Amino acid sequence: MRKCVQTNDWNVAEPAFKAVRNELTVLGKLVLRGTRLVIPRKLHKQALNLAHKGHQGIIKTKQRLRTKLWWPVIDREAEQKCKSCHSCQLVGKPLSPERNFLHNHCKTLRLICLDFFLRVNICWWLLTILVDFLK
Ligand SMILES: [Zn+2]
Repeated sequence: MRKCVQTNDWNVAEPAFKAVRNELTVLGKLVLRGTRLVIPRKLHKQALNLAHKGHQGIIKTKQRLRTKLWWPVIDREAEQKCKSCHSCQLVGKPLSPERNFLHNHCKTLRLICLDFFLRVNICWWLLTILVDFLK
């Protein structure tokens, strides 16, 4: 790729690189697209694994990659990585009706009373939460 940019000969380059050839520059041994580093195919998996750390889901994984790196199918590979990961699927899953209700109303909830009773000898406990909705 570096040679294509330096010689401006795009006959052997992949179409995806040709499409952005005006945005590519060479800096020493590095190829940049704008300010993003174009990395070789053999490093894609490693970059995906690093961006995927913490299982933040598709959007966050793509954001992490896009800040520093570029390759032609970066979005598709990030999506495939997260879609094949169970933990990432849970991050992107819509809230359950109960959690969604609390999420929508948490700003209007007001805690009135919180009481906790523990009976050690019998080993049972009671937690009472009394809330009210603000208008
Ligand atoms: Zn994941």
